[in-house]
Amino acid sequence: MTAYSSLLTSIPGVAHGFGDKESLMPERLQSWQTTLPDKKQVHGTAIGWVRRPGEALGELDGVITDVPGILLTVLTADCLPVLFCRRDGRRIGAVHAGWRGLLAGILGEFAATLDATGDRPSQWVAVIGPAAGPCCYEVSQALVDEFKQRLPLPAAVIAPRPHHLDLAAIARQQLLTLGFNTVDTIGHCTLCCPAPAPENGMRYTSFRRNSKQREHNPAHPPISGRNQHSGLIILPDDATAGFNGIPD
Ligand SMILES: [Zn+2]
Repeated sequence: MTAYSSLLTSIPGVAHGFGDKESLMPERLQSWQTTLPDKKQVHGTAIGWVRRPGEALGELDGVITDVPGILLTVLTADCLPVLFCRRDGRRIGAVHAGWRGLLAGILGEFAATLDATGDRPSQWVAVIGPAAGPCCYEVSQALVDEFKQRLPLPAAVIAPRPHHLDLAAIARQQLLTLGFNTVDTIGHCTLCCPAPAPENGMRYTSFRRNSKQREHNPAHPPISGRNQHSGLIILPDDATAGFNGIPD
């Protein structure tokens, strides 16, 4: 299954999707898989421009391009994917934002990357994808305290329940503060959707759920190679013929 954002679907000439455990690469993006930049996500804050299909970028957690025909994705399994698209569909970006990235300010780095070219967050839309939710994402009090000390956000946004971070709410508030005033959330928890989510049938790879399974049964396979892709592409002109942007 693939989840779609109605906000991104409304932008002409761009295809996107949020994959899940059964369809790691969203169906609509599969034919562009060979154009993916070669990058390694390291829970950092570096953002890089992509100029060529398959470009080798090294260690990066965010990518941005204005070149049609290059698929940008981030791989996640509990961390938060954020897809970005300028309202005119001429520039796109994708950011991998786990707790480390949010705390270190990767979303601000993405905004700074736009500022450096005279672009403004208000010209963009942002969509937050599936991640570990506040229902399940239990962390130490020390980590909750660190978020409260370092981020100027209400405590109830950071941790709506004791010892549980709300990554999506933190990201949303950060985006709004940065000037991304149109933010959509495809809100499903990767941890508590081992069975298909009732509303759309999504099932997710979850790093944390997998780790618990492997504690009980060391023979249980690890998740390597099974992270889901969230991504988008500026469609080349020859691919937009007959494509109306409406998902299957
Ligand atoms: Zn949950």
